[in-house]
Amino acid sequence: MTLTPPIESPKPRRRQGRDPEPHFKPDTSHQLDAILGCPAESVPQGHLAWAVLEVVDQLDTSSVEAGYSSLGRNGYHPKSTLAVWVYASLIGLHHSTKAARALETDAAMRLVARGGKHSGATLRRFRQGNAELFATAIDATLRLARERGLLDEKDLAVDSVRLRAHASTKAVRTRERSTKRLGELAAVDPAKLGEAQRAEHAAKVKKHQEALGLFEQRGTTSVVLTNPSAALMKFPTGAGLPGHRVTVTAAGQKERFIVAVLVDGATNDYGKLGDAVRAARDALVKAGLPEDVPVQAAADAGYWSEADLVFADKARGWADVLVADPAPEGSRTSTCYGRERFKILTDQTAICPAGTPMNGPYADANGRQKWIGVGCADCPQRPQCTPGRERALTVSMAAEAMRGRLARPGARERYNRRISTVEPVFSAIEDSMGYRRVSSRLPKTVRAEILLKVLAHNVSRLVTAKRLRAVYVTVGPF
Ligand code: SF4
Repeated sequence: MTLTPPIESPKPRRRQGRDPEPHFKPDTSHQLDAILGCPAESVPQGHLAWAVLEVVDQLDTSSVEAGYSSLGRNGYHPKSTLAVWVYASLIGLHHSTKAARALETDAAMRLVARGGKHSGATLRRFRQGNAELFATAIDATLRLARERGLLDEKDLAVDSVRLRAHASTKAVRTRERSTKRLGELAAVDPAKLGEAQRAEHAAKVKKHQEALGLFEQRGTTSVVLTNPSAALMKFPTGAGLPGHRVTVTAAGQKERFIVAVLVDGATNDYGKLGDAVRAARDALVKAGLPEDVPVQAAADAGYWSEADLVFADKARGWADVLVADPAPEGSRTSTCYGRERFKILTDQTAICPAGTPMNGPYADANGRQKWIGVGCADCPQRPQCTPGRERALTVSMAAEAMRGRLARPGARERYNRRISTVEPVFSAIEDSMGYRRVSSRLPKTVRAEILLKVLAHNVSRLVTAKRLRAVYVTVGPF
């Protein structure tokens, strides 16, 4: 009997300890490609692409790098993808497919991509999933700006711009139209309709009823079915289209960095001032501003609402906010006695032009104070005072306080700097970068896309400031 030797079972393979560092594709921007050449040699020094690379290299992308694999070298380094998007945004390429196509031929694009050839899908995924990275990068640009003395917390300006949403007008529902159509549809007797017409009638009723449900749910007067953060807006061309409202707080008349941005589907600016100024101050504090230093901000008459004026009044300890009066004294066309003819004493007693104390004050639905005239029926001044039986005087104490602040010496000059601080920011984004339409639909991807454009703007401001400083140092003060 022969014994067969025992079969040696193979040694179990031990799993290798995973390299904690993620691996990325190597930088090939300095290598010579036989057909396309060498990006680092082709792009002259002083080109915008080099300047973008220099700024992006100073941004921290470690939070995103940790998500990449340490096996193989399949991923592009996040800094190269970020630099591609920043540079592409600055030269007016806002679609991932267009940017990917430019990467095949454009030497400057290949330089910022570190020699990579990112596909459209890679670029799109990166933009959609990295809103937090863009927000952190914006904070970093503000920190760099502050270190270089480019951030002026005494010169903040708030305003908003409307960007076209990625949605068709067919996806828009308005409360007014849906209510009207439901009334018209209710007047039709479905029993008198044929089968096909009855089904069509029921579908229309359902469509408008669902729209009314959405208005109640979101508390808005219009909804865009395919784009939850958009709404029907009136654009400067006069057209009513689906859009996003982007509220921007910019700092510095010359530097014009964007310090805070809010994105929503509001149809006007009312009630946004508080959030905008608070976000701006938080960003400035993150950038190194001491917490006890007050900021100064200005906003146009679009923010003259009770909520905004009350905010401006209450925030005086940490923010000096000016809001333009939409109807300053002397511009009113009413023939009746204006507010200036009445006196409000420190004990809140109002004295009318006839010298009579008025009844009140009473709080109205908007939080304003209201007084009612006494003895108006027999008053000889009644024709000049009111067309009604008695005169009511309604005053917003917050508006009174704002008018007082606007009348201080130097306040008007400070307010007037608002235009040259924030309006050029919109011009840079809409005209220089050519960004007028958002190409995402989901709220978080819409936000990510807009933050990316804000980041590109701030990077361009850092680049411009550096170039101006270089000219100043070379040529000297003028
Ligand atoms: S109309 Fe009434 S409120 Fe006006 S001045 Fe005469 S008493 Fe005063």
